[in-house]
Amino acid sequence: MKRILVTGGAGFIGSHLCEKLLNDGHEVACLDNFFTGKKQKIVHLLDNPYFELIRHDVTHPYYIEVDEIYNLACPASPVSYQYNPIKTIKTSVMGAINMLGLAKRVKAKILQASTSEVYGDPMINPQHEDYWGNVNPIGIRSCYDEGKRCAESLFVNYRLQNEVRIKIIRIFNTYGPNMEPDDGRVVSNFVMQALKGEDITVYGDGTQTRSFQYVSDLLEGMVRMMNTGDDCVGPINIGNPGEFTMLELANEILDITGSKSKIIHLPLPEDDPIQRQPDISLAREKLNNWEPKVPLREGLEKTVAYFEQLLKEGKG
Ligand code: NAD
Ligand code: UDP
Ligand code: UDP
Repeated sequence: MKRILVTGGAGFIGSHLCEKLLNDGHEVACLDNFFTGKKQKIVHLLDNPYFELIRHDVTHPYYIEVDEIYNLACPASPVSYQYNPIKTIKTSVMGAINMLGLAKRVKAKILQASTSEVYGDPMINPQHEDYWGNVNPIGIRSCYDEGKRCAESLFVNYRLQNEVRIKIIRIFNTYGPNMEPDDGRVVSNFVMQALKGEDITVYGDGTQTRSFQYVSDLLEGMVRMMNTGDDCVGPINIGNPGEFTMLELANEILDITGSKSKIIHLPLPEDDPIQRQPDISLAREKLNNWEPKVPLREGLEKTVAYFEQLLKEGKG
């Protein structure tokens, strides 16, 4: 049994991770400031004596004794991370410094939830870890992209200078139950719009692509990464190479829901990446042949069922 800290544990991915780690027999401390996270996502874990919920902001120092840290604290939807961009940068940068300081003090292993956004609007497709990216350092996405890039730099330098045992994964667009219905990301937007019979809001002409990974595949990759030896540091891409246009995604969701919603087009936000697909050969090699198992259709069906239930309970 390990003692594990999950920052951002009340968020979409963090809530699933806390549950998985408890099921795997570990003791879990879930730390969150509830900016985009919600108690409802982890309320079912609260009566487990091996689960602890801590309201705290990672931009402030925090002291605890743990064996491992998963650093997930950071809003991930463009709408949320652009709401208070300075705070987003502080969360990524000061949060990383504090969690690395903690890892250094207690000699814990620490995994950073980095992102495909470090590749910005990529000039090559698919993206391999060696690609340095194409990020606008002063654009509206930069608070997130540059914050995450700086965090990666902090991680590798804490390893070099202080021998902290680090892991970096670059997560590609991930979806599934526990996403907030109104958090503004494309899968939750389209599914909610389809279920409510509202117009499906495709930004731009809808030919931009993303590669969508179901959350259980990410969790498997994440935990395998944490369990690698100290020489396996990353960064390693964790994503599903299945690449789709936003129009294809919209039509798939219309098909699954049987919705009569019509597709409308709204302006494409500034610096919206045109294409994105992970090269996962490194993950296959280093993570014991890890690869995603859940195809888009199946993952979307589960996600639609989750949002349908929310609507039934009046929570949509
Ligand atoms: P989310 O917004 O649902 O979860 C983020 C969590 O962090 C929330 O619970 C939020 O309240 C918490 N948080 C934010 N700022 C904090 C702070 N200063 N102190 C403490 N807690 C704070 O997003 P998610 O999709 O679950 O993403 C989790 C992590 O994975 C993020 O770091 C994100 O950048 C990364 N990631 C996610 C995706 C994706 O597609 N979901 C892709 C790439 C990377
Ligand atoms: N820190 C923390 N928890 C700990 C140890 C450190 O939050 O258990 C914070 C500490 O307050 C500092 C940061 O992590 O701001 C970086 O720590 P480090 O030891 O690298 O730097 P220093 O304390 O020398 O500035
Ligand atoms: N998008 C869209 N309609 C929406 C929300 C998003 O067409 O209602 C597009 C967005 O412009 C982007 C893609 O979907 O091209 C993925 O957006 P998301 O915010 O989910 O993630 P990110 O851009 O960070 O990959």
